Amino acid sequence: MAKAEETVLEIDLKALGHNYRYLRSKIKPETKFMAVVKAYAYGSDSVSIAKHLQDLGVDYFAVAYVNEGITLREGGITAPILVLHPQKIHFKTLIEHRLEPSIYSKAILADFIATAQKLNTLDYPIHLKFNTGLNRLGFSADELPEISVLIQQQQAVKIIAILSHLAATEDSKETKFTNLQLHRFDAICQQADALFKTKTLKHVLNTSGIINYAHAQYDMVRSGIGLYGYGNEPHVDEALQPVMTLKTIIAQKHSIPSGESVGYNRKYKSSSETVTATLPLGHADGIGRQYGQGKTFVSINGHMAPIIGNVCMDMIMVDVSNIECSEGDEVIIFGKELPANTFSQTAETISYELLTGLSQRIKRVLT
Ligand code: PLP
Repeated sequence: MAKAEETVLEIDLKALGHNYRYLRSKIKPETKFMAVVKAYAYGSDSVSIAKHLQDLGVDYFAVAYVNEGITLREGGITAPILVLHPQKIHFKTLIEHRLEPSIYSKAILADFIATAQKLNTLDYPIHLKFNTGLNRLGFSADELPEISVLIQQQQAVKIIAILSHLAATEDSKETKFTNLQLHRFDAICQQADALFKTKTLKHVLNTSGIINYAHAQYDMVRSGIGLYGYGNEPHVDEALQPVMTLKTIIAQKHSIPSGESVGYNRKYKSSSETVTATLPLGHADGIGRQYGQGKTFVSINGHMAPIIGNVCMDMIMVDVSNIECSEGDEVIIFGKELPANTFSQTAETISYELLTGLSQRIKRVLT
């Protein structure tokens, strides 16, 4: 791999393929695989990721919002795309781009049917989302009869899938609760089958669900973080490979005497002669102030250097007093040798937040 000459996010498509095959190996061959590529494919590059996954045979994609689905369509994605949180104002555009909405309330269902009827659709595919305990979005089970009436009165839309989302699949202390959610989902599926009299796809598992509850895979699974190499935190499955590596270079080194301060608010003060290196990335790139103050380390020439003082908007300073390094040398912020979940734990957060927070101004490089 080429040495970095600026801040770059390397995206390893081989690792992506490996993770996809690994997660697929956990489910039956006939179970469909939905790749979750919302939020720029968890901070990477949604079109490149989705194209590669489409070539590898992924059945479905999921995004959060309609504009993300349009980006995929314009980038050449022809596979079905589920929009998890579609908003009424975008229903017409959603239909024009052959995106499939996840519908989670009667009001949204009525609005979607009205838009579909205006556009003269026939059996436009929709997914119904049920709340089984996450208490975020979703119908409740007792709304099924009313949904059924609304659906039977029209022909513009057709229910093709029933889904729910689990709250704590990665947490072994919450097995009882996850099983309760799965039990509720099962009851909803049975009632829906009896009421709708058409076969629908059922999907409920996310990445840690695939790893810990594969028996509940139903007809399709929805994986996001696992494809990018993480998930099931803090016990990330070792078979998964980090797809993204964030790299930068040393912009400048300084030797400072004891008692000098470094950076804004003078939060770091040297207690002896110290060598610092300034790196060209900061909180505007997604490395927030919570990573400063000596809690978090980056890797320089195989050695760990603490981030000192406050993280600035475009720069961070690290202590390289004990590391042989020069201006222009490559620095690994996180990635293969320093997993994003380890890096994010130092700021008491998860890989999801770190990855999806990476700014779009960082150059993406496919490897
Ligand atoms: N399904 C839904 C509804 C989601 O919101 C998400 C992610 O937030 C996923 C699936 C994918 O979850 P994970 O990234 O843990 O695999």
